[in-house]
Amino acid sequence: MALRNIVKQGDEILAKKAREVSEVDDRIRVILDDMIETMRHADGVGLAAPQVGILRQILVIEVDGELIELINPVLLESEGTQVGEEGCLSVPGYTGTVERPAYVKMKGLNRNGKEIITEGRELKAIALCHEYDHLNGVLFVDKASALHEIETDEEY
Ligand code: ZN
Repeated sequence: MALRNIVKQGDEILAKKAREVSEVDDRIRVILDDMIETMRHADGVGLAAPQVGILRQILVIEVDGELIELINPVLLESEGTQVGEEGCLSVPGYTGTVERPAYVKMKGLNRNGKEIITEGRELKAIALCHEYDHLNGVLFVDKASALHEIETDEEY
């Protein structure tokens, strides 16, 4: 495993749509391992592959001790709304007020190429949506109703 550099806002890769992973092979598993190590090292609760310079549809989140890896994620269902304060490892020093679904259900592939379904509310729903947005070239600052220049301990 290796730490990867986290791309910061202003890098054009963060505004691009990530490409689908055609085959979940050892190369993808190495990327997943590196993303998890990088996320944990940065005290993040989530990370998307474009944030480490890889334009592929891969995300990881870790909320309340539950680690989720999703390759080629698809949003199946969302319900309700919640408004929270978000940060991003690619936008250091800022948080923003963002409206998200209260509940989401997504499917995707795990590291073995098997389809999995995950669902969540509260922070997990926020983290899933935040990382899913990264795969579509969207940052939380594009959606935030207000930005605040403070440190946060919850960065995605
Ligand atoms: Zn982010």
